Amino acid sequence: AGSGKFFVGGNWKCNGTKDSITKLVSDLNSTKLETDVDVVVSPPFVYLDQVTASLTGRIEVSAQNSWIGKGGAFTGEISVEQLKDIGCKWVILGHSERRHIIGEDDQFIGKKAAYALNEGLGVIACIGELLEEREAGKTFDVCFQQLKAFADVVPSWDNIVIAYEPVWAIGTGKVATPQQAQEVHVAVRDWLKKNVSEEVASKTRIIYGGSVNGSNCAELAKQEDIDGFLVGGASLKGPEFATIVNSVT
Ligand code: PEP
Repeated sequence: AGSGKFFVGGNWKCNGTKDSITKLVSDLNSTKLETDVDVVVSPPFVYLDQVTASLTGRIEVSAQNSWIGKGGAFTGEISVEQLKDIGCKWVILGHSERRHIIGEDDQFIGKKAAYALNEGLGVIACIGELLEEREAGKTFDVCFQQLKAFADVVPSWDNIVIAYEPVWAIGTGKVATPQQAQEVHVAVRDWLKKNVSEEVASKTRIIYGGSVNGSNCAELAKQEDIDGFLVGGASLKGPEFATIVNSVT
């Protein structure tokens, strides 16, 4: 882990029912979580209010998406104002499922990030390469381009956590090796140093996501530039998610 406070997010994606989420929240409320870790969970929109109201204040809540501007005549969208209204503190933007399945591009994601940050939400900004991009030696190029799209528009870096999530590792059980993750995290930090500022590079948390679980988290957490995790599948199990939170070294 690096010098910033460890940050662990749980991305529940499009999973759960009222009952399963009630149980998950109750498990989370009763587990012991290291105090020196920021912990955030991201339920589906329809359960955000339920989760925000039932989780203890120890864990903050994130949305999985937000609209690019002020709410209004945008059928099916959820505004940043509405998220703030129910006590949501964060939003995940640029997740690979939204980039590659829904088709969101860098510019659209950048607009969302700028709007959310201007309105006071924290942003978990996701970047990461596809398998074919890695195999073609383009990992850094892809990550830097996605990073630049955020850097070009964000008002400040105070409220941003960068999640490096290689697409080939998401939901596949194929976790990046600690060395593979560390290599990209250092490169991202270096990019921030050169293109934003030394201060932003050293204080911005860069977390890893992609098949993190209770068994592989400790080795990853030892890497100097891994400042936490974004966890999908394993965040749906309270005790395993707690193990990941508590893997901070
Ligand atoms: C994610 O969706 O952000 C993620 C990392 O998923 P998983 O942990 O299931 O690979």
